[in-house]
Amino acid sequence: MSTAALVLAAGRGERLGQPIPKAFVSLAGTPLLVRSLEAMAAVPEVDRVVPVVPPNDLRRWSAMAVVGVGSQQLREKLAGAISGGTRRQDSVAAGLASLGRSVEWVAVHDAARCLVTPEDASRVIRRAQQCGAAILAEPVRDTIKRVRDGRILETPPREECWVAQTPQVFRLELLREALAKAEAEGVLGTDDAQLVERLGVEVQVVPSRSPNWKITLPEDLVNAEHWLASGQTPLGGELDS
Ligand code: C5P
Repeated sequence: MSTAALVLAAGRGERLGQPIPKAFVSLAGTPLLVRSLEAMAAVPEVDRVVPVVPPNDLRRWSAMAVVGVGSQQLREKLAGAISGGTRRQDSVAAGLASLGRSVEWVAVHDAARCLVTPEDASRVIRRAQQCGAAILAEPVRDTIKRVRDGRILETPPREECWVAQTPQVFRLELLREALAKAEAEGVLGTDDAQLVERLGVEVQVVPSRSPNWKITLPEDLVNAEHWLASGQTPLGGELDS
């Protein structure tokens, strides 16, 4: 049962306000992309990690890769970088197209969620491998309103609202089918699970146990640096069930 992790790093990340793509920006000295690749490579269930980088930045990636960034574990599992697309969904499609027949499961992970722990990633992969599809998520703390044109349409029950995170893990053929249907119907998803949900397939939710913030704004970088400086080690800890 071979499992590949696609690490999506092809976005510009303009809200971070840096001259280079977000995934190449460093957090406490290590690029977000390398942090995410390391986390996924440290998951026992993951056999291969595939970076999906901006089309014009393959050279930047090569420069980073040839200087030998990363652990031996990462180098052993690292596949060649794939050129991503204009939209996140295109980057997922490009990553999936690179996977061979031996791959049965795929974990899609946003490089911007670079604090994910191997323990959380392992838990969601194992859940998917039992059920077919699972995502990491956390319950919302606030009351959520569905709003259009400045007016509230609906207040979904808070206990039923979760923030979707990554990794999101699927049987490879299932995600391929979901993407093909979305493309055929002109649907653009903001995550992968919603495309699988459109097939009528149940997707399970696994609560993350460690912070799995998405680095989006400059203050997210600052907060993450503080969190790391406080002695937290997202790559540490024991793997549990
Ligand atoms: O834009 P957003 O924060 O939702 O992006 C989530 C992840 O998807 C990021 O890691 C980003 O690099 C990736 N992405 C991508 N290709 C795109 C757009 C976003 O790989 N065209």
